[in-house]
Amino acid sequence: MDKEFAVDSDGLHQAVNLMSRDFSNADGLALPIELPQIGMGSTAALNSLAPNILGGAALLGEATSFAHMDPPTPWITWAVSLWNASLNQNLLHPATAPVARQMEQRVVAWLAPFFGMNGGHMTPGSTVANLTALWSARERAGITQVIASEGAHLSIAKAAHILGLKYLSLPMDANGSMDAAQLPTDLSKAALVLTAGATSTGAIDPFELAGRAAWTHVDAAWAGPLRLSKYAHLLAGVELADSVAVSAHKWLFQPKESALVLFKDTEKAHAAVSFGGAYLAAPNVGVLGSHGATATTLLATLLAWGLQGVAQRIEHCMDLSHRLRDFLATDERLEIYAEPQTGIVVWRPRDENLVEHVLQQLPVGSTSTTAIAGGKWFRNVAANPSADIDLLIANICGALPKRV
Ligand SMILES: *Cc1c(COP(=O)(O)O)cnc(C)c1O
Repeated sequence: MDKEFAVDSDGLHQAVNLMSRDFSNADGLALPIELPQIGMGSTAALNSLAPNILGGAALLGEATSFAHMDPPTPWITWAVSLWNASLNQNLLHPATAPVARQMEQRVVAWLAPFFGMNGGHMTPGSTVANLTALWSARERAGITQVIASEGAHLSIAKAAHILGLKYLSLPMDANGSMDAAQLPTDLSKAALVLTAGATSTGAIDPFELAGRAAWTHVDAAWAGPLRLSKYAHLLAGVELADSVAVSAHKWLFQPKESALVLFKDTEKAHAAVSFGGAYLAAPNVGVLGSHGATATTLLATLLAWGLQGVAQRIEHCMDLSHRLRDFLATDERLEIYAEPQTGIVVWRPRDENLVEHVLQQLPVGSTSTTAIAGGKWFRNVAANPSADIDLLIANICGALPKRV
């Protein structure tokens, strides 16, 4: 056997040891311009890449990280990802992935009921989950139009474009939710997309609209996991949807690329987006061809933490966002865009001239920015359970000019 394909314990241990080395002062990328003729060997390649790959990345689990929807990942997912990479199963073929396919089905069966859905499948992200759901809506409900709020994720307009559907963007209300008053009366040919946790603001669209259109799709890419927590009521009405998208690589702390598309009637929805025949023993469901055992890391995390462990971490993230909100609300130099709904806090200095100044003072990776109605706002996202809110507050205070 070619030993490059065998378990090399020393090599793998070295890879793990490199993970705890400090590469923060590593130089920039020094890669050969041309594809090398002769390889340097696996150990040398690892050592030469470590400073760049490990030292060159944003650390999503560090105390100041509170800017994006990308969470740190638990170590059990790193271990299972290693197994996945070594096995390289293809879930397209039951023969190469007998157990991994069952694991995906089990994970989906565990999670779908939280959303009132009866099944679905995994996708590499909610971009593909949204596309798959709207594809199914087109086949099953004959929709010709997609309606979503201005605050909806760009993947909704993208899906409408790919599927040849008209796209209607409705204005937002003052909180960043869909303005229900603007909804057309005839929804018989429409897929209505309700967002749970708008990417910019975390706003939840009015879920009392669910079920009014020929197809209702809930884009819960960000806030979906709240259904597993004491905040489940924030998404009340989601169970009236026909399909739901949830990104597990956001608030379920999974490595990319991991998401779910869930359906109320999975058998019919899957049949509408399946192709079979020739070399395939089972029909190919959805957008992807070959795809990996993403479900195994999610399954491992859910087994390791249980529902309680997941809920506790999401609720802790919500607490962090509430503490930040409380500070921002009491400092008269700052304004909040709207009451945070799902762990996303949008704010800025009242004095517009201070926006760039404050942004420059804040540690990189602590705060992102977003444009709403032409204005620039700061955005904090509670995806990191290890974030230190006192430190963030101290940094914000330090960035503001001294009170006179
Ligand atoms: C992140 C996000 C998406 C896209 O999901 P990916 O997993 O990045 O493909 C879609 N909708 C909303 C509301 C999001 O926040």
